[in-house]
Amino acid sequence: MAIPYGHQSINDDDIAAVVEILRSDWLTMGPTHASFEAALASVVGIPEALVTTSGTAALHCAYMAAGIGPGDEVVTTPMTFVATAATAAHEGATIKFADIDEVTRNIDPKAVEAALSERTKVVTAVDYAGHPADLDELLDIAHRSGALLLEDAAHSIGSVYRGRPVGGIADMTEFSFFPTKNMTSGEGGAFLSTDPDLIDRVRLFRGQGMIRDRSRLRNPDEGGWHQEVHSFGLNYRLPDILCALGLSQLSRLQEFKAHRAALYDRYNAALSDLDGIVLPAKRDDVDPMWHFYPIRVRDGQRKRVYNHMRENEILVQVNYIPVYWHPVFEDLGYRRGMCPVAEGFYEEELSLPMHVELSDSDQDRVIEVLRDAIG
Ligand SMILES: *Cc1c(COP(=O)(O)O)cnc(C)c1O
Repeated sequence: MAIPYGHQSINDDDIAAVVEILRSDWLTMGPTHASFEAALASVVGIPEALVTTSGTAALHCAYMAAGIGPGDEVVTTPMTFVATAATAAHEGATIKFADIDEVTRNIDPKAVEAALSERTKVVTAVDYAGHPADLDELLDIAHRSGALLLEDAAHSIGSVYRGRPVGGIADMTEFSFFPTKNMTSGEGGAFLSTDPDLIDRVRLFRGQGMIRDRSRLRNPDEGGWHQEVHSFGLNYRLPDILCALGLSQLSRLQEFKAHRAALYDRYNAALSDLDGIVLPAKRDDVDPMWHFYPIRVRDGQRKRVYNHMRENEILVQVNYIPVYWHPVFEDLGYRRGMCPVAEGFYEEELSLPMHVELSDSDQDRVIEVLRDAIG
């Protein structure tokens, strides 16, 4: 049987939680929505979190809250899923790609500094594979030039940076609950911030811009039914059905983290003697929840090893093609060669299967086939 690269872990409690909502009065906008948001905020240790229909939606909300538009610049990493940049480009912002650090594969603060201009409104870091970016340095650099730091933490719910949980450190943080991520709600995401103004803007944008609070209405005496829109919004609300799954999964986060840590250690132990590959590295001041296990395959062998693994039903992945290599960016004039460290990493990168349903014997099989391929 094929061994997938990522997979959700759903238990009977997760299933019961969803069924309970299906039998209740509230499929959406109900009490479980509020409970999931409160539980997320509490896990991160901040007052408020807002859940959204996807990580992509949460990124879009973040850029809208930051007020980006044509003429504004967003500095981000090319070593990410395209949504990190696409949601800003969609609003007309110009994307500036800054190269990555050789060790963590996260955006390099020095490269960010070089890419900043007076037009930069947001710096977006990604916690690649779950390893937190250099958040303190990036916050300092962004704030000195009047920009906000957005942390794309799609890989890193559960990770800890300098003793603090990811989610309450950057000006804005986004989580994704897609099935392959650290925990899932089917589809889903979250926006987190400790700034009440940013929270307020995202809450409005997520909910069609609808204002019901009487004290904020322009025409409060219209009648009890009255509600107003003061700014345009979309519907990015996560239904209670999915919030119930997310809430149940959140209670298993530390169990998931321990399992992923054990897989990471077993890969390290089993592969460290292999020439021809480079294992992932970690800084001392972080405790990542490992989202995937990215190795480098040296000497131009990546494609051959990828094909060998796939032929043996080990469904390895490559994360990621540099974002500006996508034709949509090429058509805007972006050219290869812009971020050589990221491009060099991409050419060699291979993500081994890493998920909570991966048993020791599955992992042994991955190791065996990889050793065979590297030879
Ligand atoms: C998965 C992912 C997203 C998008 O999340 P969705 O929930 O799939 O929309 C954004 N950024 C990164 C780095 C991701 O891995």
